Amino acid sequence: MKTFKIAAILVMLVLPTLRTDAQTPPAHAAAAGPIRVLLLDGESGGPWHNWKLTTPVLREELEETGLFQVTVSTAPPSGADFSGFNPQFNHYQVIVFNYDTPDWPEALRAQFEQFVSGGGGLVVVHAADNAFPNWPAYNLMTGVGGWRGRNQQAGPHWYFNDGKLTSDSAPGSAGNHGARLPFQVVSHAPQHPIMRGLPPVWMHAPDELYDSLRGPGKNMTVLATAHSDPKNKGTGHDEPMVMVVRFGKGRIFHTPMGHDPAAMSCVGFITLFQRGTEWAATGKVTQKVPANFPTMNSVSYRVDIASMDPAYLNGASPIVGHPAAK
Ligand code: ZN
Repeated sequence: MKTFKIAAILVMLVLPTLRTDAQTPPAHAAAAGPIRVLLLDGESGGPWHNWKLTTPVLREELEETGLFQVTVSTAPPSGADFSGFNPQFNHYQVIVFNYDTPDWPEALRAQFEQFVSGGGGLVVVHAADNAFPNWPAYNLMTGVGGWRGRNQQAGPHWYFNDGKLTSDSAPGSAGNHGARLPFQVVSHAPQHPIMRGLPPVWMHAPDELYDSLRGPGKNMTVLATAHSDPKNKGTGHDEPMVMVVRFGKGRIFHTPMGHDPAAMSCVGFITLFQRGTEWAATGKVTQKVPANFPTMNSVSYRVDIASMDPAYLNGASPIVGHPAAK
């Protein structure tokens, strides 16, 4: 068990680049243009995940690269009328889930499975791995998930032990986290396109460190982990923080990091999200690691992103030194 303290919080203010207006692309648009992204949000099932606040953050982080053309779509709450919700997955190269919902109509599930298994990309951010506990294909895509009643029936608890991926099938609930504190992220796959050039260990901004996630873990590669500290209600294990999964011909990038704009303002999170989305869409990463990437003991976050949350401006954000339970 280790306790890490931040030597200093480096504030790296990077002015946002000009964004172009994202418009719905025509069907079968040329592959040479920007990567077409559908950013899906909506119901979160509670007060914890404010997608109205975080969707503009994720959109900005993709669009500022100049690589992506982002369309946002908000799904109806579960049980509502889905007849007007027709996302046309095949118009996009990658779907980003800033979305947690219990269920979808069967026809929509089938369309989505077809999209991903046929070679589409999927990006799963934070509580999107809470969604769809009873949809087997979605749980195969995420590899692991938590909450919404998941237990051992969802699959074993996956974690790293002595640097190796381990699974524990003992009964128990899935999904837990402590207070939002900074934590170190450790890379296990320096040669993977998403991880190439990143430091082997870096300090993530205050965030919920998800632990005890369970799932099939099939075709899943864990690229990075974080130590779940028992002093902060953790397991004492190294929990998966960055995963890639294959589902048919589809590529999935999954990170349980990114609870709120404070966590999403971490230059480490931003870099992984931008690279992971490119990789899920194309299988390649062309983006460089920014110079202000966090170091082993120092958080590096973007004020322009953190400021998109009113909590940052009134001093209540954990990134300005006020750790708070959710
Ligand atoms: Zn959360």
